[in-house]
Formats: sequence, C-alpha cells, structure tokens
Amino acid sequence: MTVFEQIRSAVDMKTVAEGYGLDVNRSGMTLCPFHNERTPSAKIYHDSFHCFGCGEHADVIGFTQKMFSLNKPIDAAKKLNDDYCLNIEIGKVPTEAEVTEYQKRADKKRAYEEWEKQAWRILNDYYWLMRDWRALAPKSPDEECDKRFIYSLHHLDHAEHLCMEFINCDKDGRLSMMDTVAKISALADTISVSWTDKSLAEPR
Ligand SMILES: [Zn+2]
Repeated sequence: MTVFEQIRSAVDMKTVAEGYGLDVNRSGMTLCPFHNERTPSAKIYHDSFHCFGCGEHADVIGFTQKMFSLNKPIDAAKKLNDDYCLNIEIGKVPTEAEVTEYQKRADKKRAYEEWEKQAWRILNDYYWLMRDWRALAPKSPDEECDKRFIYSLHHLDHAEHLCMEFINCDKDGRLSMMDTVAKISALADTISVSWTDKSLAEPR
C-alpha cells in the first residue's frame, strides 16, 4: 500500500474539506475554493471532491495540494499526516502489520457506510409506508377505519422524527440508532406484509 493509499484510507474528503475551512451543507455541497462563486457547485463525495462549476476533481491528496499550492503530492500527504495526526510514517515502507491495520480501518469504514445506506433506506421506507397508510383515511363517516390508517396516525410522526434524527446526527449518533433501525426493519417487514392487502396496494 502506498503512502497515498494510507492517507486516503485514514481520512475522508468531508473531514479534510471541513478541516480546511469549507462549509459543507447537508447535501454535501460547498462553495468551490478554486473558482469564484456565490452558490455551492462543488460536491464532497466520500473520497473525492468534484466541482460542477470549474470541473476541478481531486481526492484528498490532490485537493490539499491545490488548496495550499504545494509542489508535490507527497507534500500534501505530509501536510494531511500532520494536520490530522494520522501517524503514518512517510518515506518508510509500512510493515505487514501496519498494512493490515490500515486495511482493517478501511474495511470498517466501508462496512459502516454500507450499514448507513441500508439504515437510511429502512427509515425512509418506513416513513413512506406511514405516509401511504395515512392516505387510507375513511372517505365517509360510515366507512370502517382501516387498521393501517389507525396505525399510521400513531406512528407517522415517530417515523418522520427518526428520519430527521438520522439526517441531523453525526456518525456516533447514527450508530446509537442501530437497535432502533433493526427494530423498525423487523417491524416494517411484519406489518407491511401481514397488513397490506395486495389488491389495495398502489405503486408509488
Ligand atoms: Zn470550482
């Protein structure tokens, strides 16, 4: 593993962008530091920066090099190593144990990202299920209440709250919701299968 790979696996683009003063909004957009603009047209991805305005595209190394007008990528690697206390020995071939450690860290990061995507889908699906069921309100006073409608009366707010909480909190906060997400997932599976009359189901 090269020193650049080590750096890239140790620190993500958002951390670097924010650490160097960029204001990244909730959708991952920010003002591009490489051209003048008033509305954000640069997107921060997990491991790269891309500006839809000027076309600049870089990973953490390239971004740092350009941001601080450094001569070589290795200078950027050194700066990141210092600024983010990555403790990577630059200029020395990493030992096997070190490589394993970096890979473990990268795997852990990827596993978290996978879970995060899945968790968001679960919460979002649950929210939309509640929205759909809210639409099953009786059309007239004589019509019997659908139990899915009643359920949604009690749970739509909660579903929305969970989504907002997930969006607004940081990684630790999301991880602390792991049990809740698992419960919602099991619950949503059960009720949507057992309560949904397929003949009533309409495509969203
Ligand atoms: Zn730009």
